[in-house]
Amino acid sequence: MSGVVDVGVKQPRKLTVAERLYLPEIVKGMGVTIRHLLRNIVRIRNLPTILYPEKRRDYSERFRGKHILTTRDDGTLKCVACYMCAEACPAECITIVAGEHPKIAYEKYPVVFDIDMLRCVFCGFCVDACPKDAIWMTRNYEMAFFKREEAVFGIDKLIAKPGLPVKDGLGYRPYYPGDGTRPPGDASSSPVIPGDGERERLREKGCDVHHTEGPGPLNAPSPAEKRTQVLTPTPLKKSSRIAS
Ligand code: SF4
Ligand code: SF4
Repeated sequence: MSGVVDVGVKQPRKLTVAERLYLPEIVKGMGVTIRHLLRNIVRIRNLPTILYPEKRRDYSERFRGKHILTTRDDGTLKCVACYMCAEACPAECITIVAGEHPKIAYEKYPVVFDIDMLRCVFCGFCVDACPKDAIWMTRNYEMAFFKREEAVFGIDKLIAKPGLPVKDGLGYRPYYPGDGTRPPGDASSSPVIPGDGERERLREKGCDVHHTEGPGPLNAPSPAEKRTQVLTPTPLKKSSRIAS
């Protein structure tokens, strides 16, 4: 019949008497193991593996480890429970339940914010998707669990504790030009353009966040500029005029 490929069947060869005795094969296998053992003992400095946990690898500044939920100056979560990270998450491991914030200025906040670390693939999409700079990743990769439930990290485990240094430092997070942090060295993380609020905050800190030529959110006026801006009417295009 056309379209059918005959791949053939390979018959297993018959074992020799020595192979059927097993002992010579076991001795051969042990020889390989002992050879590697002795070589590693003599050349321990050249081992391709490291003696963890005494020794640790130097990971990138942008390493994607355990997440943290960042906080405002008053200690509340920056997260506004918009669900964008949960939508972007390819592993569907983020669970959010939104609640109404007591402060009218914040509108919503996450009552529940869980990340299932056993399902997370540490892609960083949640960090990229967040419009509020509310979720970052650290360089902490040491997460061991005895039960599956322990792998689901809630707000208590994710919230950035004020004043406490983050274990192993910060990793993957948006890079705001001019905020004093080093720009990422890899091409996967182009600079994040600060939003209105963020840009104002950076200016207050004395950072050099200025407008550049050309279109884009960086050129969008700040709220203060918007208030003083004189709006000039845009002339209608010929095609959009209503024929009289
Ligand atoms: S790092 Fe990726 S997989 Fe993990 S929670 Fe974020 S989006 Fe989901
Ligand atoms: S972490 Fe960011 S993207 Fe996710 S719900 Fe909160 S504000 Fe939205």
